[in-house]
Amino acid sequence: MGCCDVKGLMPLEQALTKLQASVSNVCEAITLPLAEALGFALAQDIQSPINVPPFNNSAMDGYAVLQADLLEATPKKPVTLTMIGKSFAGDPFLGTLVSGQCIRIMTGAVMPSCVDTVVMQENTLASGDQISFNKTPAFADNVRHAGEDLLQGQEIFQIGHKLTPRDIPLIASLGIAHLSVYRKLKVAVISSGDELKSLGEPLAEGDIYDSNRYSIIALLSRLNVEVIDLGIIRDDLPLIREAIQSADRLADVVITSGGVSVGEADFIKEVLSELGEIGFWKLAIKPGKPFAFGKLPGSVFFGLPGNPVSAMVTLYQLAIPAMLTMAGFNIKPAIRFNAVATDKLRKAVGRTDFQRALYSVNKEGQLVVSTTGNQGSGVFSSMSQSNCFIVLEQDRGNVVAGETVTIELYNALMD
Ligand code: AMP
Ligand code: MG
Repeated sequence: MGCCDVKGLMPLEQALTKLQASVSNVCEAITLPLAEALGFALAQDIQSPINVPPFNNSAMDGYAVLQADLLEATPKKPVTLTMIGKSFAGDPFLGTLVSGQCIRIMTGAVMPSCVDTVVMQENTLASGDQISFNKTPAFADNVRHAGEDLLQGQEIFQIGHKLTPRDIPLIASLGIAHLSVYRKLKVAVISSGDELKSLGEPLAEGDIYDSNRYSIIALLSRLNVEVIDLGIIRDDLPLIREAIQSADRLADVVITSGGVSVGEADFIKEVLSELGEIGFWKLAIKPGKPFAFGKLPGSVFFGLPGNPVSAMVTLYQLAIPAMLTMAGFNIKPAIRFNAVATDKLRKAVGRTDFQRALYSVNKEGQLVVSTTGNQGSGVFSSMSQSNCFIVLEQDRGNVVAGETVTIELYNALMD
């Protein structure tokens, strides 16, 4: 235990390590056409089968020359060369050239091996086939060399890489039409609670709308998983048992929210201990203390807290990294910076806080961060108005305005 561990609460780092150690990739490899592979995790390494570009070519419209012919060229005494042919993109020059001659060349056209340099046409004067040059170009100027982007055999992506819109055109330039990727992880989502109503239903006294299913499904839809929405389940033991059993049959991952605290109607615990091996973790993080994790017969189970901020924070910080591993993705570390807090922040020693906040750059060019206000775990506006977390370390106490704090930028799932 560290100096400030609170007895009985599991530190965040330990929870993350335990989660990663308990899961592995469960998704088989499938083959997809390149255009459909966006957002999937590669199930293969990719090496370049060719040089990109495949041949030396011109970066400009102009004239291909031997640079040695233009060593004496000056504005006062231009050198004139005779144009003997043309190289267009897709229609190369097939002859050869000797000193005193040049070739008309277009952007992307093959650079014949008999020339070494391209002079852009704006720096020349043409009169019929007589082209004059008034300056010595640098050797190999305006030539794009074979393999200067990617070399044949070069390692480009590794297994587990998530395919982004920046990767697809690169892979297309290699001529690779199909990719081996991991199939989508199947994730079943259930909300639990007698007080929950679906959107469109009127609220009776004591009811609230089920918002957790929407936050969970929204984040998951950015994760490229297959979501199975199982709706709201009442606080009723047989109904909960039936719902979790059918979720377990359908999905690789079952996520519930609510029902994992110590309230009398919290039956999820009972059902889970009966059906699988589930641990009920008291985490040293705020928000998000009650969190359940374990294995059902055919799936991995995450029981998120009911409070909406806690549900989203624990999904994002704990369950999603584990699901990324299950879906075959490499995990990228979160982007964190130091920023100056503009407000005082209340913080109890003993838990890692993920306070919701807004970062910006002030007039002096300094990165500053302000809280989005009431940090109650049911106050979702603190989350909705935020653009980052302030991560306050477990051992830290209250923060005064002007102190440096760590901020964590939201990744592409949250933004
Ligand atoms: P529980 O963990 O079931 O005791 O719920 C804790 C708090 O979260 C209670 O105030 C619940 O009403 C609320 N809550 C539970 N599930 C949801 C949900 N799906 N959407 C919004 N709030 C919820
Ligand atoms: Mg409940």
